[in-house]
Amino acid sequence: SVPEHAGTTPRSRLVVLAGPTAVGKGSVAAYVREHHPEVWISVSATTRAPRPGEENGVHYWFVSTEEFDRMAAEDDLLEWAVVHGRNRYGTPRQPVDLALASGRPAMLEIDLQGARQVRRTMPEALFVFLKPPSWDELVRRLVGRGTEDAAERERRLATAREELAAESEFDVTIVNREVHAAAEELVALMRLGPDVRAHQ
Ligand code: 5GP
Repeated sequence: SVPEHAGTTPRSRLVVLAGPTAVGKGSVAAYVREHHPEVWISVSATTRAPRPGEENGVHYWFVSTEEFDRMAAEDDLLEWAVVHGRNRYGTPRQPVDLALASGRPAMLEIDLQGARQVRRTMPEALFVFLKPPSWDELVRRLVGRGTEDAAERERRLATAREELAAESEFDVTIVNREVHAAAEELVALMRLGPDVRAHQ
Protein backbone atom coordinates (compact mmCIF):
# COMPACT_ATOMS: atom_id res chain seq x y z
CA SER A 1 0.00 0.00 0.00
CA VAL A 2 1.09 3.58 -0.56
CA PRO A 3 2.11 5.43 2.61
CA GLU A 4 -0.04 8.45 3.31
CA HIS A 5 2.78 10.90 2.70
CA ALA A 6 4.30 9.21 -0.35
CA GLY A 7 5.46 11.78 -2.83
CA THR A 8 6.14 14.32 -0.12
CA THR A 9 9.64 15.60 -0.70
CA PRO A 10 11.81 16.43 2.30
CA ARG A 11 11.86 19.98 0.98
CA SER A 12 8.25 20.45 1.91
CA ARG A 13 9.39 20.46 5.54
CA LEU A 14 10.94 23.87 5.09
CA VAL A 15 9.26 26.70 6.99
CA VAL A 16 10.09 30.30 6.16
CA LEU A 17 9.32 32.68 9.01
CA ALA A 18 9.10 36.34 8.01
CA GLY A 19 7.37 39.46 9.21
CA PRO A 20 7.98 43.12 9.92
CA THR A 21 11.06 44.32 11.72
CA ALA A 22 10.91 44.08 15.53
CA VAL A 23 7.88 41.79 15.48
CA GLY A 24 9.93 39.25 17.42
CA LYS A 25 11.06 36.79 14.74
CA GLY A 26 14.42 36.48 16.46
CA SER A 27 12.82 35.79 19.86
CA VAL A 28 10.51 33.16 18.38
CA ALA A 29 13.48 31.53 16.65
CA ALA A 30 15.47 31.61 19.91
CA TYR A 31 12.60 29.92 21.76
CA VAL A 32 12.36 27.19 19.12
CA ARG A 33 16.16 26.73 19.25
CA GLU A 34 16.02 26.22 23.01
CA HIS A 35 12.85 24.16 23.38
CA HIS A 36 12.67 22.23 20.10
CA PRO A 37 16.18 21.06 19.21
CA GLU A 38 14.65 18.69 16.65
CA VAL A 39 14.05 21.74 14.45
CA TRP A 40 17.06 22.83 12.43
CA ILE A 41 17.39 26.63 12.18
CA SER A 42 19.47 28.25 9.49
CA VAL A 43 22.34 30.53 10.58
CA SER A 44 22.47 33.52 8.24
CA ALA A 45 25.55 35.32 7.02
CA THR A 46 25.56 39.06 7.64
CA THR A 47 27.83 42.05 7.14
CA ARG A 48 26.49 43.80 10.24
CA ALA A 49 28.58 43.96 13.40
CA PRO A 50 27.73 41.56 16.23
CA ARG A 51 25.60 42.95 19.09
CA PRO A 52 26.73 42.22 22.66
CA GLY A 53 26.16 38.55 23.40
CA GLU A 54 25.91 37.48 19.77
CA GLU A 55 28.19 34.61 18.79
CA ASN A 56 29.68 33.86 15.42
CA GLY A 57 28.14 30.68 14.01
CA VAL A 58 25.31 30.68 16.54
CA HIS A 59 23.27 33.81 15.86
CA TYR A 60 24.91 34.74 12.57
CA TRP A 61 28.03 34.19 10.55
CA PHE A 62 29.60 37.63 10.78
CA VAL A 63 31.48 38.21 7.53
CA SER A 64 33.12 41.09 5.66
CA THR A 65 31.41 42.68 2.66
CA GLU A 66 34.06 41.06 0.44
CA GLU A 67 33.38 37.61 1.87
CA PHE A 68 29.62 38.11 1.53
CA ASP A 69 29.93 39.20 -2.10
CA ARG A 70 32.09 36.18 -2.84
CA MET A 71 29.44 33.85 -1.37
CA ALA A 72 26.73 35.53 -3.43
CA ALA A 73 28.81 35.44 -6.64
CA GLU A 74 29.54 31.75 -6.17
CA ASP A 75 25.83 31.04 -5.69
CA ASP A 76 26.46 29.81 -2.14
CA LEU A 77 23.41 31.73 -0.87
CA LEU A 78 19.85 30.48 -1.20
CA GLU A 79 18.68 34.08 -0.95
CA TRP A 80 20.11 37.37 0.20
CA ALA A 81 19.02 40.96 0.68
CA VAL A 82 20.14 44.37 1.83
CA VAL A 83 18.04 44.93 4.95
CA HIS A 84 17.09 48.42 6.18
CA GLY A 85 19.17 49.88 3.36
CA ARG A 86 22.38 48.99 5.11
CA ASN A 87 23.74 45.52 5.74
CA ARG A 88 23.57 42.36 3.72
CA TYR A 89 21.97 39.23 5.09
CA GLY A 90 21.81 35.87 3.37
CA THR A 91 21.04 32.18 3.87
CA PRO A 92 23.93 29.78 3.17
CA ARG A 93 22.52 27.24 0.74
CA GLN A 94 24.37 24.02 1.53
CA PRO A 95 23.36 23.70 5.21
CA VAL A 96 19.70 24.05 4.21
CA ASP A 97 20.04 21.32 1.58
CA LEU A 98 21.78 19.04 4.09
CA ALA A 99 19.15 19.60 6.78
CA LEU A 100 16.30 18.90 4.37
CA ALA A 101 18.04 15.84 2.94
CA SER A 102 18.36 14.48 6.48
CA GLY A 103 14.59 14.79 6.87
CA ARG A 104 14.79 17.28 9.73
CA PRO A 105 12.18 20.02 9.86
CA ALA A 106 14.02 23.18 8.92
CA MET A 107 13.35 26.84 9.44
CA LEU A 108 14.59 30.10 7.96
CA GLU A 109 14.04 33.37 9.84
CA ILE A 110 14.52 36.03 7.18
CA ASP A 111 13.17 39.34 5.96
CA LEU A 112 10.39 39.79 3.45
CA GLN A 113 12.62 40.32 0.41
CA GLY A 114 14.37 37.06 1.21
CA ALA A 115 11.06 35.24 1.71
CA ARG A 116 9.96 36.38 -1.75
CA GLN A 117 13.15 34.97 -3.28
CA VAL A 118 12.68 31.62 -1.55
CA ARG A 119 9.06 31.56 -2.70
CA ARG A 120 10.32 31.70 -6.29
CA THR A 121 12.90 28.95 -5.91
CA MET A 122 11.20 26.72 -3.29
CA PRO A 123 7.45 27.33 -3.63
CA GLU A 124 6.76 24.08 -1.76
CA ALA A 125 8.02 25.62 1.50
CA LEU A 126 5.52 26.84 4.06
CA PHE A 127 5.53 30.63 4.34
CA VAL A 128 4.57 31.92 7.78
CA PHE A 129 3.95 35.60 8.51
CA LEU A 130 4.58 36.72 12.08
CA LYS A 131 2.41 39.72 12.91
CA PRO A 132 2.36 42.08 15.92
CA PRO A 133 -0.89 42.36 17.91
CA SER A 134 -1.07 46.01 16.79
CA TRP A 135 0.95 48.79 15.18
CA ASP A 136 1.42 50.51 18.55
CA GLU A 137 2.83 47.34 20.00
CA LEU A 138 5.29 47.05 17.12
CA VAL A 139 6.50 50.62 17.73
CA ARG A 140 6.82 49.89 21.45
CA ARG A 141 8.94 46.81 20.78
CA LEU A 142 11.18 48.62 18.33
CA VAL A 143 11.82 51.48 20.74
CA GLY A 144 12.06 49.18 23.77
CA ARG A 145 14.77 47.07 22.21
CA GLY A 146 17.09 50.09 22.37
CA THR A 147 19.64 48.60 20.01
CA GLU A 148 19.19 51.24 17.28
CA ASP A 149 19.66 55.01 17.24
CA ALA A 150 16.79 57.36 16.30
CA ALA A 151 17.60 57.54 12.59
CA GLU A 152 17.88 53.77 12.36
CA ARG A 153 14.56 53.37 14.22
CA GLU A 154 12.81 55.69 11.73
CA ARG A 155 14.25 53.70 8.85
CA ARG A 156 13.06 50.44 10.37
CA LEU A 157 9.58 51.78 11.14
CA ALA A 158 9.17 52.90 7.53
CA THR A 159 10.18 49.42 6.39
CA ALA A 160 7.85 47.78 8.93
CA ARG A 161 4.86 49.76 7.68
CA GLU A 162 5.37 48.43 4.17
CA GLU A 163 6.12 44.93 5.41
CA LEU A 164 2.85 44.68 7.32
CA ALA A 165 1.02 44.95 4.00
CA ALA A 166 2.66 41.74 2.76
CA GLU A 167 0.62 39.42 4.99
CA SER A 168 -1.59 38.27 2.10
CA GLU A 169 1.44 36.82 0.29
CA PHE A 170 1.87 34.23 3.05
CA ASP A 171 0.30 30.82 3.64
CA VAL A 172 -0.27 31.31 7.35
CA THR A 173 -0.30 34.18 9.86
CA ILE A 174 0.74 33.85 13.49
CA VAL A 175 0.06 36.78 15.84
CA ASN A 176 2.98 37.24 18.23
CA ARG A 177 1.26 38.07 21.53
CA GLU A 178 3.53 35.88 23.64
CA VAL A 179 6.77 34.49 22.27
CA HIS A 180 6.28 30.99 23.70
CA ALA A 181 2.74 30.70 22.35
CA ALA A 182 3.73 31.94 18.88
CA ALA A 183 6.70 29.55 18.83
CA GLU A 184 4.56 26.57 19.87
CA GLU A 185 2.05 27.47 17.17
CA LEU A 186 4.88 27.50 14.65
CA VAL A 187 6.21 24.12 15.76
CA ALA A 188 2.69 22.67 15.62
CA LEU A 189 2.43 23.87 12.01
CA MET A 190 5.74 22.18 11.22
CA ARG A 191 4.37 18.93 12.62
CA LEU A 192 1.39 19.15 10.27
CA GLY A 193 3.92 19.42 7.46
CA PRO A 194 2.78 19.93 3.88
CA ASP A 195 -0.86 19.28 4.76
CA VAL A 196 -1.01 22.48 6.76
CA ARG A 197 -2.58 24.49 3.96
CA ALA A 198 -5.58 22.16 4.08
CA HIS A 199 -6.04 23.00 7.76
CA GLN A 200 -6.29 26.74 7.22
P1 5GP B 1 18.94 41.99 12.88
O1 5GP B 1 20.02 42.88 12.33
O2 5GP B 1 18.01 42.72 13.80
O3 5GP B 1 19.48 40.72 13.48
O4 5GP B 1 18.06 41.51 11.64
C1 5GP B 1 17.53 42.43 10.77
C2 5GP B 1 16.63 41.74 9.76
O5 5GP B 1 17.38 40.87 8.92
C3 5GP B 1 15.53 40.86 10.37
O6 5GP B 1 14.29 41.24 9.77
C4 5GP B 1 15.90 39.47 9.95
O7 5GP B 1 14.76 38.67 9.73
C5 5GP B 1 16.62 39.71 8.65
N1 5GP B 1 17.48 38.58 8.29
C6 5GP B 1 18.25 37.83 9.09
N2 5GP B 1 18.89 36.89 8.40
C7 5GP B 1 18.51 37.03 7.12
C8 5GP B 1 18.82 36.31 5.92
O8 5GP B 1 19.58 35.36 5.88
N3 5GP B 1 18.22 36.76 4.78
C9 5GP B 1 17.37 37.80 4.75
N4 5GP B 1 16.83 38.14 3.59
N5 5GP B 1 17.06 38.49 5.87
C10 5GP B 1 17.62 38.10 7.04
